[in-house]
Parts: sequence; C-alpha cells; structure tokens
Amino acid sequence: MVLLQSHGVVRLIFALLLLSSFLLIIYNFRSISSRLPDLDDVVSGGHTKFRRPKTGGSLKGIDPLLEPEKGPSGKLYGPGEVNRTSATILSLVRNDELEGMLQSMRDLEATWNHKFNYPWTFINDEPFSKEFIERTSKEAKYTSYEVIPKEDWEVPSWINEDLIQESSDLLTENKVQYATMRSYHQMCRWNSGKFYHHPALKDIRWYWRVEPKVHFFCDIDYDVFRYMEDNDKLYGFVINIYDSPDSIETLWPQTLEFLAEHPEYLHPNNAMDWLSDSKNRPEHNHKANGYSTCHFWSNFEIGDMNFWRSKPYEDYFEHLDRAGGFFYERWGDAPVHSIGLGLFADKDKIHWFRDIGYQHIPYFNCPSSPKCKQRCQAGRFTDGTGLDEEDCRANWFEMAHMD
Ligand code: GDP
Ligand code: MN
Repeated sequence: MVLLQSHGVVRLIFALLLLSSFLLIIYNFRSISSRLPDLDDVVSGGHTKFRRPKTGGSLKGIDPLLEPEKGPSGKLYGPGEVNRTSATILSLVRNDELEGMLQSMRDLEATWNHKFNYPWTFINDEPFSKEFIERTSKEAKYTSYEVIPKEDWEVPSWINEDLIQESSDLLTENKVQYATMRSYHQMCRWNSGKFYHHPALKDIRWYWRVEPKVHFFCDIDYDVFRYMEDNDKLYGFVINIYDSPDSIETLWPQTLEFLAEHPEYLHPNNAMDWLSDSKNRPEHNHKANGYSTCHFWSNFEIGDMNFWRSKPYEDYFEHLDRAGGFFYERWGDAPVHSIGLGLFADKDKIHWFRDIGYQHIPYFNCPSSPKCKQRCQAGRFTDGTGLDEEDCRANWFEMAHMD
C-alpha cells in the first residue's frame, strides 16, 4: 500500500515536471519569436548576409551593432609610431569653435590617437587665433595650422549673384537648413572638391575628418590608417542617412549628364543600385530626381585623398562646380562624396567602421563592446525624436555589404 502510494506520488511529480518543462518551452519559444523581426527574404550582399525587416528601413531588432563587436579581421598594427603611414587627422574649423574642438580632440586622443600620435592638421578660411593654437597644441603631440588659399574658398567667378539671391528664397521656402548662410555653401564646396589640394596635404595620402563637438566612445587599439592601406580600402564611414531632397534637386540630373559624357568612368563594381534606389523612401528619390539621397555622413570620414585626386572624381567635381549647385542649391559634400564613391569606386573598398563609437548630434554609431566602457548605448541610432526614418544604413548593408 505504502509502496503503491509512493509510486503515485512519483508519477504525479513526473507529470508535473513534464508539464512545467512543456510550459517553459512554449514560453521561451514565444518570447524568442516575439523578439525576432518580421524578416523579408535573406539578401546576400558582397560579403555578409543581411536581413532587412519587412517593416521600414530602420535596423530595429536586427541591428548588427547589437552583436558582440570583435573588430576587423586580418593583420592589425598596434600602438607605436614606427609603422605609421602617410596620414593626418583633419579639421576644418572656426576660431569660435575652440571649445568644441578641444572636446573632440580629447575624445579621439583618449580612445585612439595617444597610441599612434598621428598629426592633427587644422584648416581655416582665416588665420587661427593665438588662443586656438595654444590650447589645441596642448592636447596632442603634433599639430599644425593652415589657412585656405583665397581662390579655393571664394565664390567662383561664374556664379551669378542675382541668381543666388533668387534661389535662396526658394531654398528658404523649402526649409533647407543653412540656405542663406553663404559660408556654409562655401564650406560644402571646399569639402567636396578642394580640401585634398591644400598645399599642406600635398604629400599626404590618408585623412580622418574630425569636426568640433563630436564624441568618440570606444577604445580603438589598432592603426586605422594602416588597416585601410593594408586591406586595400579607400573610404571608411560610420553612419548612413537620407539627405534633404530640397537641397539637391538637380544634383542627380547633373550627375547623369556627366555620366553620359564619361561612361568609361563608371566602375564595374559600382554602387549604382544603392544610389538610385527608389524602393525605400520613394518620395525622396522622386524629389531628388532619381537619387535615393542615402549618403555616407561625411562629418566622419577616413579616406584616401588619392581617390578624390583621381581623374574621374576631379572631372566630376569640375562638372558640378560649373553647374553651380553649391550656390544655387545647397549641395552638401556628403552626397557629392557619396555619389562619387558610388559611381567611380569599387564598392568593396568602402568600409563600415562598426567598431568606432561615434556621435555627431543627433546620430550615433555605438557597437556592443567592452571597449566602449558603457559610454554609449549599443545600437542606439539617435537621441532625437522622429529621426529613425532618416536611417538608411540598411540600404548600404543590403546593396553592398557590412564590412
Ligand atoms: P553641420 O555639421 O552640417 O551642421 O555643419 P558644421 O557647422 O558642423 O560645419 C561642418 C564643418 O565645417 C565643421 O568642422 C565646421 O567647423 C566647419 N565649418 C563650417 N563653416 C565654416 C567656416 O565658415 N569656416 C571654417 N573655418 N570652418 C567652417
Ligand atoms: Mn557638424
């Protein structure tokens, strides 16, 4: 009897155990599947497989930045000046942006440059103040200060002043940021087609563009310029966003005109699909007359100046400059660089620096890595509201690759 009873208890316990494991499995399955995004077909890019969520273009729920960050593969050079290549950190900056510049310098020196001591080159359209020079030179081992040749900064002679006035009314009406700020247009033109000809950069190949008031969050322990050189890359970015189509209405039509004259410049492994994409955010493509407006956000760039100095890009810039859109519209250096790269470069030579934690208001690149020491939140894209739809990183990952 006692034996029978204990058998019954054992059976009951067994049944309860079975039931609870069953419930646990169901619970886990439900919670996992609720975390999985609704996936469209698997798209195979140049290298890495990328899955786009069915809903929208943002990376929510499938963000590669949420995966543990391991850094790039291959041979990397660690700290030290001996293996340095021909490179500089480059900042176009105004005297009154000194505090913001110091802050960017401190971040980049602390996370990366104190290990390599690449020189900083500061460039300005007017001479740097004594205070600017004194204070910035205390933050890094090597710094130099340059002024832009007048003819590179001035509005070119073929630009019509009356036409600038007329067009700036239209840009203002369309709420284009910086529409009436002449120096902003000059800055975009200089960054598009002049900076790499500055005499101080003549013998230098690589640059890392750094603006005032940006943040670098994560430790980078290898020489990024050597990485670019050794791995045959020519451009590195962190963030991809859509541009304001009202600022570049005729940029794509002008680009197509140039391409018709020079079809031989188109690289066989170009990123035309990415540039002309109309599937994601079709209204942007429509307003920009055929350009998706998705671009590498150029306040961060690690690049090979020899690409900008190459004939296809130089001829392209010349064509754009003659067309006048840097002043009659507000063409930015970001879409101009991005189109140049998308057309004339091998897209496999464009590298996403997923491991560099970065912020320029209002967007972030923040990987999941102990090297970020919780200074930024992994996967966070913006601190602004309603800006998620500006994210077009998924387009690049889908149409090119993630490395
Ligand atoms: P935003 O990031 O598009 O809002 O533009 P910013 O105001 O940050 O300008 C982009 C970069 O160009 C920053 O590094 C600025 O310091 C620099 N910059 C913009 N306008 C001028 C200018 O008139 N003179 C100089 N020297 N630098 C400028
Ligand atoms: Mn800026």
